[in-house]
Amino acid sequence: MNALVYGALDIGGTKIAGGIVDNDGHLVARSQCATPARGTAEEMTAAVASVLDDLTARPEWSSLSRLGIGSAGPVDTSAGTVSPVNIPAWRGFPLVDRVRAHPGVPGGVEPVLVGDAVAMAAGEHWTGAARGVDNVLCMVVSTGVGGGLILDGALHTGPSGNAGHIGHLTVDHATGPACPCGARGCVERFASGTAIAAYAVESGWVPPAGVAPTAAAVAVAARAGDPRAVAAYDRAGRALAAAIAATAALVELDLVVVGGGVAQAGETLFGPLRHHLADYAVLGFTRGLPVVAAEHTTDAGLIGAAAVAGPARPARGTHRLPPAHS
Ligand SMILES: [Zn+2]
Repeated sequence: MNALVYGALDIGGTKIAGGIVDNDGHLVARSQCATPARGTAEEMTAAVASVLDDLTARPEWSSLSRLGIGSAGPVDTSAGTVSPVNIPAWRGFPLVDRVRAHPGVPGGVEPVLVGDAVAMAAGEHWTGAARGVDNVLCMVVSTGVGGGLILDGALHTGPSGNAGHIGHLTVDHATGPACPCGARGCVERFASGTAIAAYAVESGWVPPAGVAPTAAAVAVAARAGDPRAVAAYDRAGRALAAAIAATAALVELDLVVVGGGVAQAGETLFGPLRHHLADYAVLGFTRGLPVVAAEHTTDAGLIGAAAVAGPARPARGTHRLPPAHS
């Protein structure tokens, strides 16, 4: 048996997960710990090391051929560094160097770093909803809104690994809310879980006693017909539709895949999204663009990181060469 075995790390604001994925895209081992997001850089590094300690002790690790890392962004894949918005202690943090230096990582295995949404796109293209499709926008609609692109059958990462950042496309340039990124009217300010819940609450929606005002709770209310909850999802779907139509016009797409926690709302989100997309995607080559739910859910980050290390390995832009000896 010469099947390739992939190591995968998924660094997020709430958890750090690691996995070993076989040649068919099946997760065969898994480890995770809570992210010490408010801790020091050293505490963060120790948490990553503990996940790697656990994985490298598994028998499957001895066959490891490649290692992929998906991280909350921004990332700089050419420098091998990460600066996750929700992990303040890591700014320009040399994650690739630290992972490479772990004693359990074989010397010949060069870690491949990408942003988490780019990893998700790679995973959906490998074994998920985008299998066999050449031009795909994959979106993660969650606490934030991210995305990744498959173009001409290959993962498109951009020089620093941030291509596909659809959450920060401006869809309301005049009166849209200010965005923490510094711009105005970004998709994320309308369509993230946080934005959906905030809009519903501002409109006068009140969650049932004992229920937190989350996007999931707003979805329950929307399904029950609450007009403020319906309006919050309609607003989110409309912003996503405008951004999808713009992306389709720019690069030509065959398919859009939407995952992330907010996509769990199902038709409550997809219904208004598709309805508005019909109004925005009106050029002949953008009309009728299918929008489907992601197939990978809980382990999407790990499957994606493995895909980036192997089947979807970018030709350039995310493969950091070891430092030259001088
Ligand atoms: Zn923004």
